[in-house]
Amino acid sequence: MRIALVGNGRMGQAIQALAASRDDELVTVISGEENRSGEMLTADRLDAAEVVLEFTHPTVAPMNLLRLAQLGMPVVSGTTGWSERLPEVEAAFTAGTGALLHSANFSVGVHLFLRAAAVVAAGFKGRPEYEEFILEAHHKHKLDAPSGTALRLQAAVRHADRDRDFPVSSIRAGAIAGMHRLSYDSAGESISLNHTARGREPFAAGALAAADWLRGRRGVHRFEAMLFGEEG
Ligand code: NAD
Repeated sequence: MRIALVGNGRMGQAIQALAASRDDELVTVISGEENRSGEMLTADRLDAAEVVLEFTHPTVAPMNLLRLAQLGMPVVSGTTGWSERLPEVEAAFTAGTGALLHSANFSVGVHLFLRAAAVVAAGFKGRPEYEEFILEAHHKHKLDAPSGTALRLQAAVRHADRDRDFPVSSIRAGAIAGMHRLSYDSAGESISLNHTARGREPFAAGALAAADWLRGRRGVHRFEAMLFGEEG
């Protein structure tokens, strides 16, 4: 697969390392220093790539993606913390000839965890003696809190039991790659569902799998559609 990478930070480097081990061809890497206003996202620079992976910063991701939509590129984006502009970006991809697959989390394990959480939450519906909470922890450089995945987890629990409001807590410290926990606590017992990432490799692997799947597609797609079939 011929890929272009926009963003050369921790995730960009994890993707590069994994792509090299899979014999994917890295056509170009566009760094923040050269692309402050999106000026490097041109057909000249990107034409040789079959798919673009975008892992940058919430303040620039919409700008990057709107430019990539104009170029008609298939794009996998994992940048978090800008969900309020996602509808505008998705509309640009829908109107053009490109393709977008954005996910706040490219770990397969996290998506199975979210499905399991929805089943657990449905089981606790109507049992107020059990109080739920979400705890998530990430490294100190992560900008958004709660994480996009914690928000998804919160939405899954609320969807299963709309009457409940509950705490969602975030820790930003050290080098933690990512931990999410959903707990139900009562006077007599505690039940927890936990996901821990030991590194960035699962996110890089999921992003490259999504890139492979997106080649040749048009429009807006969800990672869940790729993992679980078109019905999501
Ligand atoms: P990072 O801070 O290590 O790297 C971000 C990089 O983006 C920096 O190198 C910066 O120079 C670059 N950048 C900034 N503006 C740019 C621009 N206009 N063009 C090109 N590059 C630009 O962050 P990270 O840990 O690599 O994470 C990046 C994003 O991915 C964050 O939003 C993070 O939350 C998210 N993330 C998503 C997943 C997932 O599975 N979806 C997993 C981990 C991290």
